[in-house]
Parts: sequence; C-alpha cells; structure tokens
Amino acid sequence: MRKLVSHLKNVGFPRIVEVSENARKKIRNVLEAMECSSVVLVTGKNVYQTTANKVEKRLEDVITRTIFVSSLRMEEVRDVEFEIGFEEVDSIVGVGGGKVLDFGKVLATELNVPFISMPSTASHDGIASPIASFKEGGKPISISTDPPAAVLADITIIRNSPIRLIRAGYGDLISNVTAVKDWKLGKDVKDEEYNEVAASMALMPANLLLVEAERLDLKTPSHLELLVKGLILSGVTISLVGSSRPVSGAEHKFSHALDYLGYGEGLHGEQVAIGTIIMEYFHEKAYGVGDWELIKRSLEKIHSPTTAKELSLTKEQIIEALEYAKKIRRKRYTILEDLNPTKDDFEIALEKTGIV
Ligand SMILES: [Zn+2]
Repeated sequence: MRKLVSHLKNVGFPRIVEVSENARKKIRNVLEAMECSSVVLVTGKNVYQTTANKVEKRLEDVITRTIFVSSLRMEEVRDVEFEIGFEEVDSIVGVGGGKVLDFGKVLATELNVPFISMPSTASHDGIASPIASFKEGGKPISISTDPPAAVLADITIIRNSPIRLIRAGYGDLISNVTAVKDWKLGKDVKDEEYNEVAASMALMPANLLLVEAERLDLKTPSHLELLVKGLILSGVTISLVGSSRPVSGAEHKFSHALDYLGYGEGLHGEQVAIGTIIMEYFHEKAYGVGDWELIKRSLEKIHSPTTAKELSLTKEQIIEALEYAKKIRRKRYTILEDLNPTKDDFEIALEKTGIV
C-alpha cells in the first residue's frame, strides 16, 4: 500500500468519452461543458485536408491557432510554446493519428490545460493514455503526460483511415494478453503490486476480439467500435495503475528494441503483435498457459503480419532485437527475465511459430 499515494497523485481519467459514428459533432458541446473558449488545434498536414479542416470550421470562433505537427521532439513543443507566448489558451484539441495525439498530450501537459483527443485512426492505445512516444537524438523515448480530458472517437472518421493502421491497433490491443501474463508473473515471483480491475480492463476486450477474430471485419462500424473501446480502456488502465504495466510486457520490449535498433518497417502494433506470438509461445511452453496459435491465427485472419519477412526483418535482426529486449527496463519482470532464453531458444521459438 505504500506506493498507493504516489500512484493516486497521477490518477486522472478522461471525463468525457464518446465512441460513435457522430462523435466529431460533439466537439463544441465538450468544449462548452469544460468551459473552454480559447483553443489551439493540433493536427497533421494530411489529416487536415480530410478531417481537421472540418473541425476547424466547426470551431471557427474559438480556435486561436492551428498547429501542424512535423516531428515528435521536445524542441518542437518548446517552439510552439514560444509561438503561443502569453496568449490565453485554455485547451488543446488534437485531431490526427498517434503522432498528433502524442504531441498534443505533451503540449497540453506543458501548458497545464486539458487535452481533447480526436483520433483519426486506431493504430494503438495512445488514444486515451497518459504516455507519449517521443524522439530524442533520433531514439525513441516515452514521456509521461496528463491523460486526455476527453476522447471523441468518431467511427466514421476512423473507418476511413488506412486499414493497415487499424489492423495495427488490433495488434496493440491483443498484446495485452501477454502483458498481463507478464504482470501476473511479476506478482507471483517478485511480489509486485497487481490490480485485478486494471488487469481485467486490459484483458477482456483483447480476449473478446481474439475469440471473435474468425468473424471480425474491422471496417464494420460495430466491430471497429469494439476495437476502439478496447484501446481506450487500455489507455485508461495506464492511468489507473500509474504505469503501462497492464498493457506493456515483453512483447513491447521487443518492439522497443526494434525501434531502438532501427530495424524493419513495422508499425508499433505490427511489431508488438509478432512479439505477442513469441512471448505467448514462451509462456505456454514454460507454464502451460496460453495459446500462441490462436493469436497467430487471429492476426492472419485480419491480415496483419505474422512473419519477419512481412516487416522487412531478417532472422538475425529479430534475434538481435530479442537479445536486446532482455536488457531493456529490467525492473519490469517479464517472461524474458523469468526464462532468460538463450539465442538457441529464440531460434527454436521463431521457427516453431513460423515467424522466420
Ligand atoms: Zn503499445
């Protein structure tokens, strides 16, 4: 219980969450409910053409400026802060993909104003999470932020985003399966604090989509809604426990390793999906709990990559990334710390699961 106080300090949740085919139309009501009238719109060049320009028009009288995100660097956030100067800004609305939302979260946290997240796609669980992925010296870093104050996930907009991004979102959601297994391992072996509610919130939507994968069509609004809600819940669990523990285990270490080494061309969700197959294999092999084949089949079913080749990765690169993953964030106990697999173990796992 000792740590609870420090966790509570960081607890905050989106006060308003709307996932529907018309969520975009609620933006003015949301701003009014939050008594915001001086808004900075953060977006990307492409998404502006299709979507954000309409939001801008809708909020013409309250938007003070529109900012286009070009890179995820702290210097760029500082530049924007400088540009805003002493203007009264009482909220940031982010309309875009992961990059825009991450930038918006950091900017809003820096300015200490609420952030309203309007995702244009559903490629990972950053839609509602209090974490942003930034770059420093060309390398990926994670920054803690305040959680978005509101999330308006418009299914009509998201449905029209590239299907590859949505499939990647599915990969990020089902990765909760191994993330939670790793967390349980941390509880059993290292007596780590474990929150059953957060674990269930992370796990239930992932399991639901996994068993439904046979019938899943991610362009069908009701199915897409399930995915988006699952990703939002994942983000909220991070706020609930004050760390990404419920949604990020060894499969994420593997993906971070690939990013850090600069290997392959996979999206975050595609990389963690392949990581999930590998880690589920190890969990199943060591503890008899899990079903890596189900995970792989479900990914195949939705046409998400399940092989190294599809992400332009070689067998050597994957093994190097797995070795590297063993050295990342060692305090986060996962199946990699538990089994300490050798290079041979990795090779066998990759061959058995058909990844190489
Ligand atoms: Zn993730």
